[in-house]
Amino acid sequence: MMTTMKMNGLEYRLKRSNRKSMGISIERDGAVIVKVPHQAELNNIEKFIYEKKIWIHQKLAKKKVLNREKPNREFVNGQGFLYLGKSYRLKFFDNAGIKSGKLPKAAPLRLWRGYFELAESERAIARERFISWYKKQINKQLKARMSRYDKRIGVTVKDIRILDLGHRWASCGRNGIINFNWRTIMAPIWVFDYILVHEMVHLIEHTHSDRFWHLVARVMPDYKEHASWLNENGADLDL
Ligand SMILES: [Zn+2]
Repeated sequence: MMTTMKMNGLEYRLKRSNRKSMGISIERDGAVIVKVPHQAELNNIEKFIYEKKIWIHQKLAKKKVLNREKPNREFVNGQGFLYLGKSYRLKFFDNAGIKSGKLPKAAPLRLWRGYFELAESERAIARERFISWYKKQINKQLKARMSRYDKRIGVTVKDIRILDLGHRWASCGRNGIINFNWRTIMAPIWVFDYILVHEMVHLIEHTHSDRFWHLVARVMPDYKEHASWLNENGADLDL
């Protein structure tokens, strides 16, 4: 159960559970979540938050910076676009000759010699072109990455769907189906792998229990690093 609370102008959500100690996390949208044991008293909770005040404000400030810098995509020559954690500049190419059949057909968008090359005729639908390119790359990557983990985790992924999940990176549906956000392919490959492993483990263990994190750690001992990368940089992974 979550209750929205306020302390010295800081709004936070209080979540009581079976846990033994108190903890704070900052969600991607900037929400502050304070997790405490069932019996924790409010003055102790507030003392705990007070002690973490600097950390909370640093985290929130960082998120604000990222959100402010969230690129206003204009799809112009020279603008950088992310793929697997690296930025590649966009370059338009004139495809008038191709369209008229004088030149061989080219892909409307491709990553070629360190540049994203987009056909001039696609300028108005550049964003859609990027999204469908990203979706294609996820499909390719998943085929290769999944086989690294499925036996070790002991799950069979029946199907993958690539969707626009908004601010969620992935989710797992029923019957071994995993839903992936197309934005995930903008992250470095090890972060992408973490998202995949996280959902694969959810096929066995639905909640974020101790057992869940134990299973994640078994196949990915450094998962915390990747999770915090995502937490800090996630807002940047967008078009
Ligand atoms: Zn989860």
